[in-house]
Amino acid sequence: MKHNFGAGPGILPRKAIEKSAQAILDLNGTGLSILEISHRSKDFDAILAQTKSLVKELLNVPDNYSILFLQGGASTQFSMVPMNLLPVGGKAAYVESGVWASKAAKEAKLFGNVETVASSKDRNFCYVPTTYAIPSDASYLHITSNNTIYGTQMASFPESNIPVVCDMSSDIFSRPVDVSKFDLIYAGAQKNMGPAGVTLVIMKNDIHGKSGRAIPTMLDYKTHIENDSLFNTPPVFAIYVCMATLEWLKEIGGVSSIEKLNTQKANLLYSEIDSNPLFKGTADVDSRSKMNVCFLLEKPELDESFSALLKDNGVIGLKGHRSVGGYRASLYNALPISSVEFLVSLMQDFAKKNG
Ligand SMILES: *Cc1c(COP(=O)(O)O)cnc(C)c1O
Repeated sequence: MKHNFGAGPGILPRKAIEKSAQAILDLNGTGLSILEISHRSKDFDAILAQTKSLVKELLNVPDNYSILFLQGGASTQFSMVPMNLLPVGGKAAYVESGVWASKAAKEAKLFGNVETVASSKDRNFCYVPTTYAIPSDASYLHITSNNTIYGTQMASFPESNIPVVCDMSSDIFSRPVDVSKFDLIYAGAQKNMGPAGVTLVIMKNDIHGKSGRAIPTMLDYKTHIENDSLFNTPPVFAIYVCMATLEWLKEIGGVSSIEKLNTQKANLLYSEIDSNPLFKGTADVDSRSKMNVCFLLEKPELDESFSALLKDNGVIGLKGHRSVGGYRASLYNALPISSVEFLVSLMQDFAKKNG
């Protein structure tokens, strides 16, 4: 039995994996594998429609939004967003709350002016900036809801008079969000909604087409909106696994139920980190993420023996990102609370032996 705390691709519900495995062998009794059917077949039409409808239902997406399944990862959105939404000679506002946010801003600079309205780089991104002015002459504000590497998360979203674009790669479907407050949301699937290979984009229908620049067909949102994500071959299997994962999420009560569970899991681990003398959290308390919990050993010389304890007990994926060090426990939707309880018990045993 493994306890998978990996940051991404992350843990998926066993039920979704089993359903997907079955679909590889035989999709709904068709005698064909999901891997070998046409993306223009009736079977895939139904899969795409069901996945879209689950996204719409679970996140309460308003009717004037498109739901797209694209390729190229969240990283391609870093450039697609400014290419489509930042007019030639225009300006966009970026909150620099981590490495992913910085990478997004870097791409935007290729297409126009970028104003960094706030940054937490001064303390290695251990907090989420909260007080900043949003320039009214910028075309959009780009934010990152959860900073996967540093374990910080926006507890609430900024009130903005300009359109808001949000990278929700690592906390989408972990809690309810008011989609109508955003012009565009994007997320690589592999953290919290499916496997690598598909990127979810939820965007207002009418926001593209105003940049005044020529955009390559595949990188133009218009192409994918008009063709319902079927301009070219979409990642058929990755979409199937997302569908199975979202079906599971719906069955267990949707995003408000999973938010309660995610809160319990995070509270359990943070309270151990705060009370156990061997460990300390790296993110500021008011910026702590419920998805990625980053912590260190007070005595780095114990690292090796703690890592060995984790390994011997089937606890995997806890190594912190190289830019923070220490440990990062990712508590994505599919991670059961029993895995967190198990990790906490190992931390307690470790303190008894090394205290
Ligand atoms: C993982 C991650 C990305 C990069 O996603 P890719 O799909 O690998 O391009 C971007 N933003 C955030 C917040 C992430 O966690």
